[in-house]
Amino acid sequence: METRESISITVHGIVQGVGFRPFVFRLANSLGLGGTVINDGNGVQIMLCGPPEILEEFVRRLPQEAPPVARIASITTKQVQSSKEPSQFTIEHSAQEGKATVQITPDIALCSDCLSEINDPKNRRHRYPFTNCTNCGPRFTIIKKVPYDRPNTSMAEFPMCPGCEREYHDPMDRRFHAQPNACPVCGPSLRWHDHTGEQIKADDCLHAAAEALSQGNIVAIKGLGGFHLAADAYSKEAVALLRHRKNRPAKPLAVMAKDLATAQAFCEVSEQEQPMLTSPEHPIVLLKYRTGLAANIAPNVAPNIGEVGVMLPYTPLHALLLAEPSCPEALVMTSGNAAGMPICIDNDDALSRLSGMADFFLLHNRDIVTRVDDSVVRVIGDRVQLIRRARGYAPVSLALKHPCRELLACGAAMKNTFCIVRNSEAYVSQHIGELTSLECFDFYQESIEHLKEALQFTPDKFAVDLHPDYISSRYGQNQQKPWTQVQHHHAHVGAVMAEHGLDQPVLGVILDGTGFGGDGSIFGGEIYRAERNRFERKGHLSQFMLPGGDKAAQEPWRMALSLLYAGYGGKGLEKAFLPAPLKAVNDQELELIGQMLQKNLNTYPSSSCGRLFDGIAALIGLCQRVSYEGQAAMQLEYLASQHFNKQPPKNSLINEGYQPIITNSTNQLTIDTSDLIHQVMADIKANSAPGMIALRFHGWLIRAITAVLAQLREQTAINTVTLSGGCMHNRILLSGLSETLTSQGFEVFSGELFPVNDGGIALGQAYIGGAGAADQLTLEIDREEE
Ligand code: ZN
Ligand code: ZN
Ligand code: FE
Repeated sequence: METRESISITVHGIVQGVGFRPFVFRLANSLGLGGTVINDGNGVQIMLCGPPEILEEFVRRLPQEAPPVARIASITTKQVQSSKEPSQFTIEHSAQEGKATVQITPDIALCSDCLSEINDPKNRRHRYPFTNCTNCGPRFTIIKKVPYDRPNTSMAEFPMCPGCEREYHDPMDRRFHAQPNACPVCGPSLRWHDHTGEQIKADDCLHAAAEALSQGNIVAIKGLGGFHLAADAYSKEAVALLRHRKNRPAKPLAVMAKDLATAQAFCEVSEQEQPMLTSPEHPIVLLKYRTGLAANIAPNVAPNIGEVGVMLPYTPLHALLLAEPSCPEALVMTSGNAAGMPICIDNDDALSRLSGMADFFLLHNRDIVTRVDDSVVRVIGDRVQLIRRARGYAPVSLALKHPCRELLACGAAMKNTFCIVRNSEAYVSQHIGELTSLECFDFYQESIEHLKEALQFTPDKFAVDLHPDYISSRYGQNQQKPWTQVQHHHAHVGAVMAEHGLDQPVLGVILDGTGFGGDGSIFGGEIYRAERNRFERKGHLSQFMLPGGDKAAQEPWRMALSLLYAGYGGKGLEKAFLPAPLKAVNDQELELIGQMLQKNLNTYPSSSCGRLFDGIAALIGLCQRVSYEGQAAMQLEYLASQHFNKQPPKNSLINEGYQPIITNSTNQLTIDTSDLIHQVMADIKANSAPGMIALRFHGWLIRAITAVLAQLREQTAINTVTLSGGCMHNRILLSGLSETLTSQGFEVFSGELFPVNDGGIALGQAYIGGAGAADQLTLEIDREEE
């Protein structure tokens, strides 16, 4: 008789709710192996019996052929003694099935099998906009509570028809245990409404929506995680109308292109970017805009920044709409919300709140339980950088490599996310956004409750930002539980440390907008010596003033004046001295800013790198007022890159940069910004091209940071560098710094799956707030003496 062995295989990772057991079943059957598969608290358990070489083949093929949505963290195999050999392979059900120890899967883009079905006139799901299977479809957005079973989702009100029921129970079917399984007979359906909310009779809602879009209308479309406002991306008028109605004059709008070829027609798609566009997550990918094309998307989609956010259809509804012959091949798809409000998810809510913005509504009757925005990613070199982490990514957890206490980290006030650490896994929420309105704060609290419920977790400890006025800080401090404060930029470093499993001291570079420093000033151009439970400010940009506080962030011309004042004192503000673009500032305003700066009224000292970008952009006449965060900096980056492409410097970009001056006072290295202004002004007086000044400024920053790090390495013997903060979205800066530092032997890390901007703050708070054993952490903040 041939030898037979029994083995048990444990698979960890995202292996539940993704069709893993049927896959195991099919693989075992195809190899003629008997045994069982069962979900347990941590993953999937497989028992197998058969000839050793066949078992080996099974183990080899398991990770290779796993379902596309599965994420295998580990596979452990061990030999076992089996009393009785199983004659066949069966899927077993465990008592604790669906317990909260398993990963909650994110929403996954339409798979190719489902796409073929909806395009097949002979298939029963032909043109059905809610088609899904275990490899694709809604998950996180429809789950009310665990276990993840249909009655606990918003599909509960759609009892399956016999056809769907059969698929659901057939282990050989792609829809075995697909909780949202549906078809035209039993599942959700579309409706078509006018802007007053009146339902319009339409034979085909998708056709009606395509027609309306082709005629320049704005259509509110209920999607997967919320509403979009859609418009023809090729029509300047339609885009202008949408901008006008949404009161969004310049902020870039995302585009959904019919397919990859359509996207490639108006932007460059690199080898690294293409797989991102078509990945199961289907995020918005920021792509370089092709210029000088005759047939192109309208220039007002994403003005003055040289790139545009593009995604491909990720639900059958979107795919069918864009495939309509009359539909524009690219649609602007922006979140359906009023300014400062969260994205609408509810039909009635949308009909009332978006009625002034949309001409028509394409609705459906599958409820969205949790709001999830589109994710935004950028590819820099061969690295992916998540800028907004939401649909497709949240709430996939990060396995922390070092011990971390269980807690809830409350996040920042802008680009908010929160984070739950449970059982050494960090669950960072979907992007919540700005906590500026009561409605947004409601969304924040609802999302916390939702994730707590989904994870069956009750936090008894909180981590919050040091900023006393952040609404998220107050939330955490009001829970009647212990809380830990984490300084904003320390959290920025912590996020990168958590993502890359760093536990050793690092040199953390944080180039950011604003963050509460702890010494009364606003930080934002910092170099820390950081560990998980402490940090020391070792270097920073020299301070300048923010005249008018928050206003300074909206009006870069104020920052330009402040920089001139820092460089030249009162003389810098004399009308005759001002560079041409600032001569437009009227006398009254000039006088007012002068008073503020000279008498120190309503101005705040700051080392913010973001504000330095703003000031330089205003000095060279690029941008005097911004209508969205980061606008001036993005335009400055684009200007610099255009100049670089037109006239690549003979030397490297770095040598092209202005020479930085670094001084050492009270054990802190200070990068002299007033000397920078002297160099910029000399270039302006010499009529140098603004693009060259922009490029030299980037070079200056890279040189300055590199020089500070080199000195700190001498001093501390630390060779590991983290790069984070919102300014690290700048391609020139991030790749320039990475390359220069790597060439000097530094080990460099930055945020990839978790944003370097404030969207990563919660993860950093969790990692830092959860370090060590002490209940309250002492954070050492060196006070600045200047
Ligand atoms: Zn599918
Ligand atoms: Zn059905
Ligand atoms: Fe920040």
